[in-house]
Amino acid sequence: MYSFLRWFFGIPPRRLGTARPRTTTQKALDKQQRESLTAQIPGLLAQWEPILGVKAAQWRIRRMKTRWGSCNTRDKRIWLSLALADKPPRCLEYVLVHELVHLLEPSHNARFKSLMTQYLPDWKQRKKELQ
Ligand SMILES: [Zn+2]
Repeated sequence: MYSFLRWFFGIPPRRLGTARPRTTTQKALDKQQRESLTAQIPGLLAQWEPILGVKAAQWRIRRMKTRWGSCNTRDKRIWLSLALADKPPRCLEYVLVHELVHLLEPSHNARFKSLMTQYLPDWKQRKKELQ
């Protein structure tokens, strides 16, 4: 069927794929954002891990559609959104602390919020700046 469609419409095979290739500009922007975050994150981790008494085993940056970050508490792996590069550094710090606090408390319960307030008293303000 596939080769029939190809023959019928004369569409080159890669155009039938679902993945849209990123433009050069997009790639350059991704690279800039990644470099900006990669320059900031190790320092923030070095600052916050001893304060919180936790240690992330790994951190990664990726393009995320709906979230600013996530934390796999079992593997202690933190994911940060590429788009944080376009936000003020205080927002990146908020997301990073949020994900590290998940290593103390996995869910967004009262304890989690109280830990956030204890360590980053203005976290709600910073969160608003991300909306
Ligand atoms: Zn969370």
